[in-house]
Amino acid sequence: MVAARTGEQYRADMNDAREVWLGEDKIAVADDPRFQGSINGMAGYFDWQHTHADICLVDDPERPGEKMNVSHVVPRTAEDLAIRHKGLEQLSRYSYGMLGRTPDYVNVVLAGHVARRDIYDAGGDPVFHERLRKFQREVIEGDLSMTHTIIHAAIDKGVPELQGMNSDLTLRVVERNDEGIVVRGAKILATLGPFADEIFVYPSAPVPAGAEEYALCFSVPVKTKGVITVCRDHYGLPEDIADRPFSSRFDEQDAFVIFEDVLIPWERVFCDGNLAVYNKISPAVSPSNTAQQITIRAMVKLEFAYDLCSQIAKVSNSDKRPEVAVMLGEIHTYMVLTRAMVIAAEARASNHSTGDEPAFFPHPDLSALRCVMPGWMMRVNDIIKHIGAHNLLATPTHAAFKNPAMGDVLRKYLPGANGMSAEERAILMRTAWDFAGSALGSRVELYEMFYFGSAGRGFMTDHMVAQMNGEGGQVKEFLKAAGAWKVPE
Ligand SMILES: Cc1cc2nc3c(=O)[nH]c(=O)nc-3n(C[C@H](O)[C@H](O)[C@H](O)COP(=O)(O)OP(=O)(O)OC[C@H]3O[C@@H](n4cnc5c(N)ncnc54)[C@H](O)[C@@H]3O)c2cc1C
Repeated sequence: MVAARTGEQYRADMNDAREVWLGEDKIAVADDPRFQGSINGMAGYFDWQHTHADICLVDDPERPGEKMNVSHVVPRTAEDLAIRHKGLEQLSRYSYGMLGRTPDYVNVVLAGHVARRDIYDAGGDPVFHERLRKFQREVIEGDLSMTHTIIHAAIDKGVPELQGMNSDLTLRVVERNDEGIVVRGAKILATLGPFADEIFVYPSAPVPAGAEEYALCFSVPVKTKGVITVCRDHYGLPEDIADRPFSSRFDEQDAFVIFEDVLIPWERVFCDGNLAVYNKISPAVSPSNTAQQITIRAMVKLEFAYDLCSQIAKVSNSDKRPEVAVMLGEIHTYMVLTRAMVIAAEARASNHSTGDEPAFFPHPDLSALRCVMPGWMMRVNDIIKHIGAHNLLATPTHAAFKNPAMGDVLRKYLPGANGMSAEERAILMRTAWDFAGSALGSRVELYEMFYFGSAGRGFMTDHMVAQMNGEGGQVKEFLKAAGAWKVPE
């Protein structure tokens, strides 16, 4: 048992039997040289929680004298939410939002599930929520890192998600026995897959009646027999941090996860085909509880992006040119809107539970940001390219400046405006390129577009929920009040 792991402890725990494939190689994650930058980056995150222990660690309510990561707080009061906000913001500042799947993300999801005991118990059997609560204790006491893989592996979009070829690809239960359930199939992408301890599988979208075998919620250690983690190409680069501030440490490595007849012990099964529970979990947890974590990270990232763009504009002394100032103001607006939404949703937080234990979540309107945020993040990268232009590529390495044959030539021909040194220009522009244009930067943009579902699905869901909630009626109300509604009843 550990209270809150250090980077060194995290690194040691990567050394287990997990089956991870990178290209054509089955690799030992802890030892593979390609992964060392990312493992160091993740280890740094665990150290960060100790460096900022006053904000990132809180008292564990069930173990007097022990601390736990703030993201495990089950929000029961406004004060819980405020403490969690401060902690999540500080945790985000480790990578300024460039790491999307730091463990606090899924910790917050799990805390939300634990808070919604009313929904689990409405399924008729309290054992499922009791298992969930015990599982959260395991995660807290081991300070485990979790990823999630929650989207059906539906490749044929011409038929419903669980029909045709999709029905055979997607994760489902194929056997139940004394020990637990046996699951087979895949889910699309698990960010942090090879670097996590656990994979939490939980509902993201409703499953129709008749498809109960797909309605599963469970968690399984990554090292479990039959869990196959297939990594995308790795974009981390073993380079000087001054040359690649993000790629040198923050490739959080997405992976496709295949479950080849994996036994999930009963104590880790939290929902098994009960649609009354399954179909209610996501709307009950995601738009309000989970949204607090993802929008705080986005806010921190936009703050960074605004400063980054302001800095790179100074390289060419263009920050006050009207067309550049407009773009800088645009990013600032996105940041302010995000901050305002988070604050407003927290101020309108309330108890979402219908049971005895409160689930004090921000207002679900917060999730509207998921519809616009992908576009904002893409626009930020677009602005970086417009402002940076050729400068993004006129960037000698740190080592090149140290080279006696080249250093002075580079300093003479590649300075910034207003007395900015060539070294400063290069570091700023390299940071901007790593943020928006490098292989990792491009991947992060794709992440922002899709990690919380696409904007299209978000808009569509929001519209359907608004209709279900009976929003509307103003047009006829106005016309009737004005005496203009001259339509036969
Ligand atoms: C970098 C990255 C990391 C990810 N990490 C994870 C992870 O850790 N865990 C996890 O579970 N998932 C993860 N995902 C997967 C993510 O959840 C899915 O990509 C997302 O749900 C979208 O599904 P899709 O890729 O099949 O695209 P689709 O949903 O098919 O969308 C493709 C396009 O079609 C449009 N579209 C599709 N359906 C509709 C509709 N009904 N209405 C309107 N427009 C529509 C979308 O707007 C989009 O432009 C990740 C994805 C990426 C790219």
